[in-house]
Amino acid sequence: MSISRTIQLPDGTEIPALGQGTWWMGDEAHLRHQEIEALRRGVELGLTVIDTAEMYGDGNSEQLVGEAIADCRESVFLVSKFLPNHASGAELQQSLEQSLQRLQTDYLDLYLLHWRGNIPLQQTVLDLEQLRSDGVIKRWGVSNFDVCDMKELLACDGGDNCQANQVLYHLGSRGIEFDLKPFLVANQIPLMAYSPLAQAGRLREEVLASDTLRQVADVHDADPFQIMLAWSIRDHNTLAIPKSGNVVHVERNAKAGSIELSESQLQMLDQAFIPPNHKMPLDII
Ligand code: NDP
Repeated sequence: MSISRTIQLPDGTEIPALGQGTWWMGDEAHLRHQEIEALRRGVELGLTVIDTAEMYGDGNSEQLVGEAIADCRESVFLVSKFLPNHASGAELQQSLEQSLQRLQTDYLDLYLLHWRGNIPLQQTVLDLEQLRSDGVIKRWGVSNFDVCDMKELLACDGGDNCQANQVLYHLGSRGIEFDLKPFLVANQIPLMAYSPLAQAGRLREEVLASDTLRQVADVHDADPFQIMLAWSIRDHNTLAIPKSGNVVHVERNAKAGSIELSESQLQMLDQAFIPPNHKMPLDII
């Protein structure tokens, strides 16, 4: 099976618009088997983009992913992230080497700067370009970059090779629609929506309590989580990476890839979850 909705990266590569996140996975021994099964089932269903980071569980997540995809690496579009204090030179090289080792692979499909730190962007871009020409990463991008950061990045020599910006985006957090999202569309840089299910906690409960969300879900014979995912990837420039260590949830998430929301349903959701009419600070976790 595959996810019918796809997005195109600036380098022309097409990838599914739904993938899998892995934060907090690999930390609990008793969940390990279940988490690996969930990731593998996701890949089987077409959720082939897997997002991890050196930061997650101090490498535990990458290790789990490595184990899960050991016999299907080539079917996976593998994304990892490096910390801002490792964003150049020997530190970057070492971060990548350690990530590759944990992931049991010799290349990443996409390598992201996790968030902006103090190292000049130009330096990071040059070093990422070097890793790209060495073949150890196929492409690179950024995460938690607002419009001003993106502008600065695009002004760097080689900065226009950025292939994605990964930021928080879900029905209950639409601030980026005011400027960042249109900026990315205009510059043909895909958005990777993290926490597309609002992670957990009070905000998620507020989103899920919406009667409108429930009504739209009922029309599609779906659940509210699936509508949140279908909504987040509605523009053909966004890829969402829900995390799940539960096979049943993964199967539901994959089905969200074929839900098409109508204009009137999108308008209903706009009334329940009002889009921004002014600049909002970038939401982060
Ligand atoms: P999500 O919004 O993906 O929510 C994850 C939670 O939703 C888990 O508790 C999961 O539980 C539950 N869940 C998943 N699917 C379903 C379903 N169908 N029905 C009910 N519950 C469901 O949160 P995350 O913060 O994990 O975001 C996703 C990914 O984005 C991360 O894992 C990470 O890879 C990335 N990320 C990146 C950040 C960055 O700074 N770049 C920051 C935060 C996240 P269960 O496992 O039981 O299914």
